[in-house]
Amino acid sequence: MSQTSILAAVSAPVSTLEPEINDELRELEVVSRDLETHTLSANTRRAYAGAWRDFAAFCSVHDLEAMPAHPETVRWYVAWMSVQLDDLGGPRWSVATIRQRLAGIADAHLRSGALDPTAHRGVSGLVRGLAKLRAMRPKRKRPLLLDDVMRVITAMDHDVYPAGVSAARDSVAVWLGFAGALRRSEAAGLTLDDLELHQRDGVHIRVGATKADQDNSAPDVVVLPYGSMPSTCAVCTLHRWVALLVADGDQRTTMRLLLGYQIDEHVCGRDGGPGLVSSADLASPTPLLRATYRNRRLATIHGRGVTGDALHTMLRTRIAEAGMDPGTYGFHSLRAGHVTQARRNGASTEEIMRAGRWKKAETVDVYDREWNPAARNSVMRLGL
Ligand SMILES: [Zn+2]
Repeated sequence: MSQTSILAAVSAPVSTLEPEINDELRELEVVSRDLETHTLSANTRRAYAGAWRDFAAFCSVHDLEAMPAHPETVRWYVAWMSVQLDDLGGPRWSVATIRQRLAGIADAHLRSGALDPTAHRGVSGLVRGLAKLRAMRPKRKRPLLLDDVMRVITAMDHDVYPAGVSAARDSVAVWLGFAGALRRSEAAGLTLDDLELHQRDGVHIRVGATKADQDNSAPDVVVLPYGSMPSTCAVCTLHRWVALLVADGDQRTTMRLLLGYQIDEHVCGRDGGPGLVSSADLASPTPLLRATYRNRRLATIHGRGVTGDALHTMLRTRIAEAGMDPGTYGFHSLRAGHVTQARRNGASTEEIMRAGRWKKAETVDVYDREWNPAARNSVMRLGL
């Protein structure tokens, strides 16, 4: 061996190895460098980065410091995550995801040399409690079927002042959730000019692009149908409420409208003739479901709209007033109820997808599995 080749072997030992081993070492070198700089997998790093962005956004909305974060801030964040719902009314984030988010927050703090706020006992205790609670309670909002909806609406004081004012609004909200299968944020966001009276169908409602289909910016049209009876007529309910809005606080007109509440007569124009309100009354970009205030003697309708959360609370209160346990119900129970009731009455998956504005049949299947186990199930065809 010449002098030069010995030196070459010392300075670059890799070059003296067999070609295959050489390649293997090169690969190992890549792996070791990867291990060094990325102690976390790419997926975990992405999840941590997302977790941090979300937490920082939460802090910014609530005017809280994200870095370093106080353990109390993290507790609020956990509580907030625990009550967010997904498209099916179930928890939006699993406990495992919430834990991963906390790991992301911990990672960001440790890398900045700050104390890890998620290590605080108050935070870990909260997550453990949530895990136990989730294991105990059913995950999704129970559906409200037509009988339940009728019970809730019938229990309201419709024909007395001032209680009848909020009853008129709440009945509309209930029908929007049940017949229209609207989410609470969609119902709360409607303005009068989103509605169009339709002689044959009842009312057409334009619902903006939803979170479920962000890439589809064209609004969907939801139908609020006439009822065979005035008591099941969503359109009558809408006419009554909009008539109160048109009356604009005039107490005598309002009282006359409320006292004229007749469950045995359509006021929607279904049987021909004019309804209580006309298309011209809907030509306004003002909120449909407005906040109301009432004391024992007086009811006022505000100009601003209700929030989705207020609709949720309203429904639970109305359910309790109807003598039912509001425990597992929420505004989403109306949308879930639409699916379940329609399925029991023989609706096809395609029909339900259209009403719920779902793009995937699997979503409807989830409702079926949970609340309609007998639907499209051969057990019903055994001739028993
Ligand atoms: Zn009617």
